[in-house]
Order: sequence, then structure tokens, then C-alpha cells
Amino acid sequence: MLRTHTCGELTINSINTQVTLSGWVQKSRDLGGMTFIDLRDRYGITQVVFNMETNSVLCEQARKLGREFVVQIKGNVIERSSKNPKMLTGDIELDAAALTILNASKTPPFTIENETDGGEEIRMKYRYLDLRREPLKKNIALRHKLGIETRKYLDQVGFMEIETPYLIKSTPEGARDFVVPSRMNEGQFYALPQSPQTFKQLLMVGGYDKYFQVVRCFRDEDLRADRQPEFTQIDCEMSFVEQEDILNTFEGLVKNLFKEIKGIELDNFPRMDYAEAMAKYGSDKPDIRFGMEFCELTELAQGKGFKVFDSVEAIIGINAKGCASYSRKQLDKLTDFVRKPQIGANGLVYVKCNDDGTFKSSVDKFYNQEQLANWATKAGAEKGDLLLVLAGGLDKTRKQLNELRLEMGNQLGLRKSNEFAPLWVVDFPLLEWNEESERFHAMHHPFTSPKPEDLSMIDNQPGKVRANAYDMVMNGVELGGGSIRIHNKELQARMFELLGFSEEEAKDQFGFLMNAFEYGAPPHGGIAFGFDRLCAIFGGQESIRDFIAFPKNNSGRDLMIDSPSVISELQLKELGLKK
Ligand code: ASP
Repeated sequence: MLRTHTCGELTINSINTQVTLSGWVQKSRDLGGMTFIDLRDRYGITQVVFNMETNSVLCEQARKLGREFVVQIKGNVIERSSKNPKMLTGDIELDAAALTILNASKTPPFTIENETDGGEEIRMKYRYLDLRREPLKKNIALRHKLGIETRKYLDQVGFMEIETPYLIKSTPEGARDFVVPSRMNEGQFYALPQSPQTFKQLLMVGGYDKYFQVVRCFRDEDLRADRQPEFTQIDCEMSFVEQEDILNTFEGLVKNLFKEIKGIELDNFPRMDYAEAMAKYGSDKPDIRFGMEFCELTELAQGKGFKVFDSVEAIIGINAKGCASYSRKQLDKLTDFVRKPQIGANGLVYVKCNDDGTFKSSVDKFYNQEQLANWATKAGAEKGDLLLVLAGGLDKTRKQLNELRLEMGNQLGLRKSNEFAPLWVVDFPLLEWNEESERFHAMHHPFTSPKPEDLSMIDNQPGKVRANAYDMVMNGVELGGGSIRIHNKELQARMFELLGFSEEEAKDQFGFLMNAFEYGAPPHGGIAFGFDRLCAIFGGQESIRDFIAFPKNNSGRDLMIDSPSVISELQLKELGLKK
């Protein structure tokens, strides 16, 4: 080995041992009589000291080292005169006796320290340098640990990891497919899996009753901070189970991860049905680290002469505790916030519940003190509180108020990254009306089974049918989702029909699954977790990007390898994409 120890392990107990370290030069400081070097590897940083008096040749050599040079240093571990309690190795330093340059380095384009001076783009381009930084290393290590613990747990409870193919045919998770042209079958294409959904169901027909896979999925969607064109799922499926079994099994997994990795014992996850989540939080992934639940004010606020309110479907408010003292400027800012095009509200109505028991609102012209007091009572607002009210179509208003609620949660410091509030959202609608295509889409995917008690509505009121579908939500983030599947050929065919597939189309796309259902498909169901998001939640961050070693940017580009890129004429011809 080119080292006897790592740069993270030498402590006061190592004093007076001869060691060899190898690593990168993070920093060097030349103090004339002495030169100090911070030597870094994956495990930490050790300070090395070169002494002009005792070894001037060596010291001269050390002075010439540039940042990120790769060096091997032999020496004796000594106690530091000025200790650094912030560093694991802060009690000692290495008194250098020999130095070998293993490789030189160009000056890196940004500083490789916890707080770097490099912008996003440049760090993406030189990702291998960014990966040397401590925050990134921590994230990547956390990801590794989560992967290992997940596999351990699932193995213990009888799951088998089975790989499914990447070169497949379209899977309907509702995004666009990435496709791969087939050279041997000119004019034909594989699709990369949006998820292994159909394969895991076929594994159930194959008799592997507890399957999982930590698996890459591909979706050609517009990107956001928590989305990547390729991302990783912990994908799972079980046979002979009901919804309850799945919820218990995977609540067990997530609790176990919190215990093993964070030392946190989570309580049982509360459950909330979709309808309640939408009514109370305007979101199917509510952040329940804080309350601030919606309060329906429609009846109280209509018919009092305020035209704007009289003509709308819904008037809903939230109570921002202790915010009655908000200034004009702060309120204007909130109004601007809800008016942003991404949110799209027309305006914001507020009611301040003053300390003297009076009310001051932006609609004082239309409502007297008593009426405003009624609003406040309904919303549970007390002296010192601030009611924020939005109005409009029900669905839209709920969505807008959800954004405002989250914003207030941020402003009031109620969304703490070291607090974890999981829940299951259950009983999703089976179908969702799509305005553009003017037909129903599957809310989860077309293999999700309707609730048996709602089946009778499937012909006349399909929009009302609820599904045996569930999401695991934590801190306002959807960690995972799944469903009990249809395992009956006729019901599956009916579902395709509802979704507007002709018999031909259904057969063409999913004939293989329908056929399999004729050979003894067991009742089954499953779930998939967004692994990158899980990592980000554990790491207390919003963006998943820095939990992926080599991510893509917001335009789906890998800036380091410069991809996607054009391919040669020859390749195009071979693939039959050009004559
Ligand atoms: N395949 C689904 C998804 O990717 C998860 C599931 O239903 O198990 O969302």
C-alpha cells in the first residue's frame, strides 16, 4: 500500500508513530521557517509540517507543491502546539521526513473546500473535483448506507432482488419515454423503463412473491430541482397481500432506516385519505410538520355584498399564528407571492386579529367587525393572529393556498429539516380527468385496482371511483407510492377501455400482461420509493442533485461528458435513421 493510515484516523493516541499518508494537497501555508500542508483523502484532513531548520531540502520541495497535487508523505506523528478542536485530527500533525509527488495537478477551477467559490455550472463540468468536497462525500456515503440498509432489511423480511431489463417497451407511468433505436430491427425502437412496473407484476405471476430492486428509471419530463431524467427507485412488489400488508411492510422499512441511520424512532405513521388531505392542506403530499389547516369560509363570506367573493366556488383561509403585526410591506409581499404566474391567484385578502380585540382587514368596506369575528372564530384565530384568505375555483384555490401555507411555514420557521413527519395518504381517486385530451387518465397507472366497494360506480361515475392506491409522504415530499393491482383479465381490459385504449391498442401494448393474467396471476400489489429523494430527506436537503454522483443539469445535460451529443453519419446509417 502507498499508505499506512488514512488522513482521517490519526489522533493523540498515534503520537510518536511512523506513518505514511497519501492524498491531495488541499492547502499549503508557507511561514518562512515552516511550511504547513493540509493533506486530504476520502477520510479526512491531516496537517503536515515541513521544517526549514531540520530539513531545508524537503521544505523547499514542499513549498513548490500546488493545490490538488497527489503526494505521499512519510513522517512521525507529533502533538500540535495549537490544536484545532473542530478537526478529528486536530490534536496532531505529521512531521514530514520524506515526500514523493505521485502526480501533479493543474490549479483546480474552484476551491475544493466545504464552502466553495465555484458556481453550479463549473462544478458540474468538473464533477470529479466537486466530489472531493466534504459535503458531497457525506451525501454519497449516506446514499451508500441507505442502499445497504435497505437491502439488509428487505432481505431479512424475505424479499429477493431481481433485475429487470432496461431495453423494453413503453411503460405507462405518464411521462414520455426515452427510446433507443434497434440496429438489428431497423425502424424499431426499445423504450427505457419509466419503472419496472409490468415486469415486477410478471414476476408475481412467476411466483417470486416478494421482489425488490434498487433500479434506475428513465422519464423524459421537464426537470425541476427534485427531478432527473434518470433516477433511482427502490421498487417492490408482493403477492397474496392486501393494502394493509404493504403499508405495514414498508412503514417497517422506513422506520428501520431512520433507526439505523439517524438513530430516530419514528411513531406509527398516521393515515389520511386523499379527500381529507386536499380539503385540509390542498395537497396530496401535505407537510404535517406544522398545522395551519385550511378553513372553509365560503358560507360566512358570501352574500355580504363583496362581488369578488360572491361569484366564486370556494373561499378558504389559513391562520398564520402571531402574524397580526405584519407590516403593509410584508402583506404586499405575500400578495405578490400568490400573484406570481406559477401560483396564479388574483389577490389576497387578510384579516388582522388585533390585540385589542378589533379586526383590521383588506375588505373592511364589505364586512363589519362581527362578521370578521365569525371568520376568525371559524378559523380558530386568536388575538395577534393573521387570517390569509384566497378565493376562486375549488381545486385552484386549494392549490394556491397550499403554496401560501408552505411559504408561511417557511417564513415562520415551522419546516425544520431535522424534524420528520411521515404519513400515508390513501384512497386516491382511480381516474383523473384530463382537460387537454378530454378523457380520463389513470391517476397512478392503469394497473391499479379500484376499491371493490366503489366498483359499481365504474360505468356511471368513473370519476368518483377510489383506488387501492397509497403514497408515503414525508415533510411535504412524496417518498413513495404504489397500489394493489388488478389481477383479473376482464377488469384490466375494462380499465384500458376507460382510459380510451381501443382493444387493439391495449393488446398491442399490454397483450403480454393480459396473457399472463390468464395463467394464474396471484393477487398482488407493491410500491416504489424515490431513492434519490429519500437520500435528500435523510440529508436534510431539498435538491436531489448532490446525492447523485453524476447528475444532469436542468436541461437534461451532463456538462462533464457533454451529453447528449450528435452521433456519426455511420452510426445513423447503421441504425437506419438516415439513408
Ligand atoms: N411503478 C410505480 C411508480 O413508479 C410504483 C408502483 O406502483 O409500485 O410510481
